[in-house]
Amino acid sequence: MSNKKTHQFETEINQLLRLIIDSMYSNREIFLRELISNASDAIDKLRFKSQTEAEILGNDTEFKIKLTPDKDAQTLEISDNGIGMTYDEMIENIGTIAKSGTSAFLNSLSNANANESLAPELIGQFGIGFYSAFIVSEKITIISKAIGSETAIKWESTGEDSYTIEETTKDGRGTTIILHLKKPKDDEQDFTDEWVIRQIVKKHSDYVQYPVLMDVEREEPVDEKEQLLDRDGKPMTSGKTQKVIKEETLNSMKAIWLKDKKEITDEEYNEFYQHVSHDWNPPLAKVHLKFEGTTEYSALLYLPSKAPFDMMNNERKHGVDLYCKRVFIMENCKELMPEYLSFIKGVVDAPDLNLNVSREILQQDALVRNIKKNLMKKIFELLDGLEKNDYETFYNEFGPSLKLGIHTDFDNREKIANLILYKTTKSEDKYISLKDYIANMQTDQKDIYYITGENISALLNSPHLETLKEKGYEVLLMNDPIDEWVVQSLPEFEGKKLKSAEKGDLGLDQDDAPKKEQYNDLFEFIKTNLESKIKEVIPSTHLKDSVACLSGDDHDMSAYMEKIMKATGQDAPATKRVLELNLDHPVITKIQDLLKQDKNDPKLKDYCSLLFDLATVVEGGKIENPSQFSKLVGELMSSALI
Ligand code: ADP
Repeated sequence: MSNKKTHQFETEINQLLRLIIDSMYSNREIFLRELISNASDAIDKLRFKSQTEAEILGNDTEFKIKLTPDKDAQTLEISDNGIGMTYDEMIENIGTIAKSGTSAFLNSLSNANANESLAPELIGQFGIGFYSAFIVSEKITIISKAIGSETAIKWESTGEDSYTIEETTKDGRGTTIILHLKKPKDDEQDFTDEWVIRQIVKKHSDYVQYPVLMDVEREEPVDEKEQLLDRDGKPMTSGKTQKVIKEETLNSMKAIWLKDKKEITDEEYNEFYQHVSHDWNPPLAKVHLKFEGTTEYSALLYLPSKAPFDMMNNERKHGVDLYCKRVFIMENCKELMPEYLSFIKGVVDAPDLNLNVSREILQQDALVRNIKKNLMKKIFELLDGLEKNDYETFYNEFGPSLKLGIHTDFDNREKIANLILYKTTKSEDKYISLKDYIANMQTDQKDIYYITGENISALLNSPHLETLKEKGYEVLLMNDPIDEWVVQSLPEFEGKKLKSAEKGDLGLDQDDAPKKEQYNDLFEFIKTNLESKIKEVIPSTHLKDSVACLSGDDHDMSAYMEKIMKATGQDAPATKRVLELNLDHPVITKIQDLLKQDKNDPKLKDYCSLLFDLATVVEGGKIENPSQFSKLVGELMSSALI
């Protein structure tokens, strides 16, 4: 056709295709589940739209998915009468990957690929969907007609570098995917074989809500007009048979969430999870419940075992689908789970729901709000009841998301605070809870201490912790950006204040006032010299071995927060820091002596700037003028080495 165009795949897709084919081979039968799930999603979308625009269905009101194998041609067709795709949608959905962070993810995968067994698990996280069909196909043709379109679109590719796309014709709306299968080797399944297909559909797609149909050929006795009877009076057949084609439904379409728990095997639960989540890893845990109170509903919710690679992306979809008496209402129902639990996957079926609800109404619907509240309670119970190892797996994957709840969900703040874990100065490798922390507190310790920053080992060595360590006080090591919001929203836990180890006066029982008096001149001198950089010079309550560090007032932004804001392109208000000096350090006494002898000694200025630079270096900050710093240190070394 003259309108045929060839497009190159995005580089990411090329990469993805190669990885899938290499690493998913032994699992290849799941391509059918992926294509049936896509077909089912396409019908869901159409059905949802038809609730407000009934006319879009026309005469074609019986939703179905049809499989058509052809053994001789070695093709398998998967056809649906769902929403279909337009030209642009086809390019957008099949030729590109619109998810941000994909390249980085794929690169990490390529590295992991050296470890073959890890690759399927990681790819599963990504949800490869349609592309899995290239494991079994040498060429794929898609013909799709979107609702409201006159023409259909034909897409074709061998899964190498490019695909072609052109206009074509098609009866009826929806999508037909034609797989030109690779010839099966002797020991391989033939995906055009009726029994192979039956078994795969039963295993992976039994609960799909729409009939998955296939024409099957059967030998049946020929219907004889005049039935002869034998001597005993029984009907005699001629023994003649004929081939008849029958359309069979391969799946039971049973809504698993409405079934009795006892009737469902773990395998069925897992299969259903994979269907709703597009995640190939088994779930970590589930809640299946039927609520029969003032509001009646059923829910089957899962806790994934792995976070999706784009976990903290704001545009990521929510995981719960809403049904009303088995009829799909909407996917990614934000109204049923708060943002910070959006990783929970599953379905909720609420029979009392008004079928015509719009999203806006849904939000205010008392019934929906009630369900949400109950479900959240169940999720917290589920998390609470997890075995220690499972909980840690969960926390490693979803901790950052959960912690967001402390900031956003006032009502459940305490519950979440009970669930969060940290490594500490006394527990570098093992997480502890805030409750554990309190149980371990020293008898004279009043507050809970924490420090925020990028990496655990830098935090462990932070000079701010020197005094606290000496006193035997444990410090929570918070190395997740979200922790900055946690500490803002959680001023105390079980009556104990959360106190920054790097900001303000630690309030420990040292009285440095008389000592400070002696150093007033020096502090003044340093402050004047570093005026553009610091707002105050104070004796440190943090330091034990180091000579200087930078800190902030209680209400100042932490250094880490400032870094996060800069990294995310926000304007961090320029706060001047406080320079803390360790009055027990010999260097301070020596500088003080020098000042007393001759306050115009040029070396004094250099020392001021060195003190500031040392304090910057020690917290992992960037020195403004590294060459000057290096020159000064060089001079000092050479004079010390005489
Ligand atoms: P996923 O299903 O995880 O989004 P896929 O690669 O399987 O990823 O599919 C990409 C997109 O292509 C889908 O999100 C959907 O928009 C579109 N698509 C796939 N199959 C169909 C289909 N049978 N009918 C309509 N759209 C489809």
